[in-house]
Amino acid sequence: MQKYNFNAGPCVLPRPAVESAIEAIRDFDNTGIGILEISHRTPGWERIMKETADLWKELLDIPDNYRVLLLGGGASTQFFMVPANLMKTKAAYLQTGVWAKKAIKEAKFYGEVEVVASSDDKNYSYIPKGYTIPADADYFHITTNNTIYGTEIHEDIDSPVPLVADMSSDIMSRPVDISKYGIIYGGAQKNVGPAGVAFVIVREDILGKIDRPLQTMVDYHTHISDSEKNRSMFNTPPVFPIFVMHETLKWVKEQGGVEAMHRLNKEKAGLLYDEIDRNKLFVGTAAKEDRSIMNVCFVMNEEYKDKESAFLEFAKERGMIGIKGHRSVGGFRASIYNACPKEAVEALIRCMQDFEEQA
Ligand code: PMP
Repeated sequence: MQKYNFNAGPCVLPRPAVESAIEAIRDFDNTGIGILEISHRTPGWERIMKETADLWKELLDIPDNYRVLLLGGGASTQFFMVPANLMKTKAAYLQTGVWAKKAIKEAKFYGEVEVVASSDDKNYSYIPKGYTIPADADYFHITTNNTIYGTEIHEDIDSPVPLVADMSSDIMSRPVDISKYGIIYGGAQKNVGPAGVAFVIVREDILGKIDRPLQTMVDYHTHISDSEKNRSMFNTPPVFPIFVMHETLKWVKEQGGVEAMHRLNKEKAGLLYDEIDRNKLFVGTAAKEDRSIMNVCFVMNEEYKDKESAFLEFAKERGMIGIKGHRSVGGFRASIYNACPKEAVEALIRCMQDFEEQA
């Protein structure tokens, strides 16, 4: 049976990227050695590192004064690397969910955190608006897409202080005006590769303003490095995840880049939200204007609450994988990242319609 993967991350990857990864395990770059066994100091690998950074720059139109770093430790490591490198006395955070809260917790090790607004009063079902970003903060941190709650900041906001964004779950889903950000970071395992590598896009001039001594690995300068050859290669990089990222970004480019991805993502999300709004069994959980085009969260309508597990079972029998909602929201979540084909969304919609008919 055909399977449709709606997992929230790790999640579906472009098939060509998976096939190249399989081949590279057998033989990387015609060396006769597999990618899991090569040295990261071989010219073939140095080329992949450079090409991957170049693909980032090209796809997101990243200006020259930014560096792209590919590091281990996931997005969660950036929760403390960001304040360690940027916070002198105070940072401002927008609290839009569990991941934002985790970032706040780590920032508090380094100084004062001002939460400028929070949507926890309504279980993070909306993005707060009308808040003021304090001009004396060292930076302002946002989570652009809230993977668990299915809410998203759709625009590049203006900030009087360096803007730092966790874009783990919506990077490469739409064009971004990089120049509005000081740092953009995230784990790769949604739109740009498998788990095991994090991306950090950093504007170089915001660094070097703090007095605290930093451990070598925590200091962004270590990974930026004066020699381009050593960029993100201070220690052994996550070779295999970066290779799959390289192949994934090549695929994004072949699809027409982030603008084409954005068109397709809006279309997929639009179809699914239309069905949720039409179908008498289901109701969306996020405020309409803040609905994510990556993670579509919905629950059973109150009067059909007892049918939740029946729908999950029905969907499973039709090949739908990973649509159970996160425990803090309940119901269902369909993650429809870049590599999730429109056919998968259409299959889920048919499944919802068929269930409605027999309910
Ligand atoms: N931020 C967001 C928005 C996420 O969705 C996740 C993971 N789902 C994380 C941070 C944590 O990422 P990692 O597991 O790479 O540390």
